[in-house]
Amino acid sequence: MSRVYNFSAGPAVLPEEVLKEAAAEMLDYRGTGMSVMEMSHRSRAFEEIITTAEQDIRDLMQIPDNYRVLFLQGGASQQFAMIPMNLMKNRVADYIITGQWAKKAAKEAEKYGKVNRIASSEDKTFSYIPDCSDLPVSEDADYVYICENNTIYGTKFKTLPDTKGKTLVADVSSCFLSEPVDVTKYGLIYGGVQKNIGPAGVVIVIIRDDLITEDVLPGTPTMLTYKTHADAKSLYNTPPAYGIYICGKVFKWIKAQGGLSSMKEKNEKKAKVLYDYLDQSSLFKGTVVPKDRSLMNVPFVTGDADLDAKFVKEAGEAGLVNLKGHRTVGGMRASIYNAMSYEGVTALVEFMKKFEEENL
Ligand SMILES: *Cc1c(COP(=O)(O)O)cnc(C)c1O
Repeated sequence: MSRVYNFSAGPAVLPEEVLKEAAAEMLDYRGTGMSVMEMSHRSRAFEEIITTAEQDIRDLMQIPDNYRVLFLQGGASQQFAMIPMNLMKNRVADYIITGQWAKKAAKEAEKYGKVNRIASSEDKTFSYIPDCSDLPVSEDADYVYICENNTIYGTKFKTLPDTKGKTLVADVSSCFLSEPVDVTKYGLIYGGVQKNIGPAGVVIVIIRDDLITEDVLPGTPTMLTYKTHADAKSLYNTPPAYGIYICGKVFKWIKAQGGLSSMKEKNEKKAKVLYDYLDQSSLFKGTVVPKDRSLMNVPFVTGDADLDAKFVKEAGEAGLVNLKGHRTVGGMRASIYNAMSYEGVTALVEFMKKFEEENL
């Protein structure tokens, strides 16, 4: 068996310890004589898995008691509709457009009400985060929406926008559990887990109690009503049980790493190695305004599409895989999520140095 350094933006690398533990429990989960995949979601064993997972993410993010944690399906993209269906009481919402995911979310919300795009960085290919200190927030906006870490472009909100008292909703798919977070600043935080937490198929929603109501838009399906899942503790129907089990193991792994402040320290150390190298390289260059750089997704280019392709190919042959940039951006992108080791990032930088010497 040989493992590669996987820089995929998602589904992405998971901690090896977690995969090994899951492998060891595959045929017989702790004396139950069955795999978690084969288990009733109403069984005592699964009940303990989901309750423990919820408690662990609560501990990690210090989630206050007036917020609920929901383990749902449909990926992050399902939330693009679920959010307006549940939250758009006035049928007005403000969106900050910092990339493809925010754009898609805004477009979906438009099916349900008026969407005001109150800031955007599209003028410079989303290479920065717009100034959000004094936005024209709509008086009747039900919420202000951001994509906190832009997976494709490699930007991150370092300070949250001033929403002028309106509820903040954030897609944190690609920065989930990568650093400490003040949950009280948000009304709703959500993310697909396949970037930084677990296998695709689970989306975690952290939502303040007062936003969970029966007063949703007419025609909202039962399955797309937050209250359905909050009342049933994420067990209204069969949840993505195996995925939740793996998420739970990743929560334990992060706890063992020292929690979110320690995660942040490690992530900063990893990102610094790569950004420092990019900043002095004569061949490669980062594409993002330095102050808005993501710790998780690092896009870079040589400026020559053929050379980019050659780099991606040769890196792959050297065991550094999935470095091709998103199809809308080109170039390269290294996603260096929680589970990517420091060794993985230094191996990448060493390879880049060698490539630069050979190709400059
Ligand atoms: C990957 C990603 C999505 C889409 O996730 P799906 O689970 O595939 O729907 C949405 N937002 C962000 C920020 C992402 O990185």
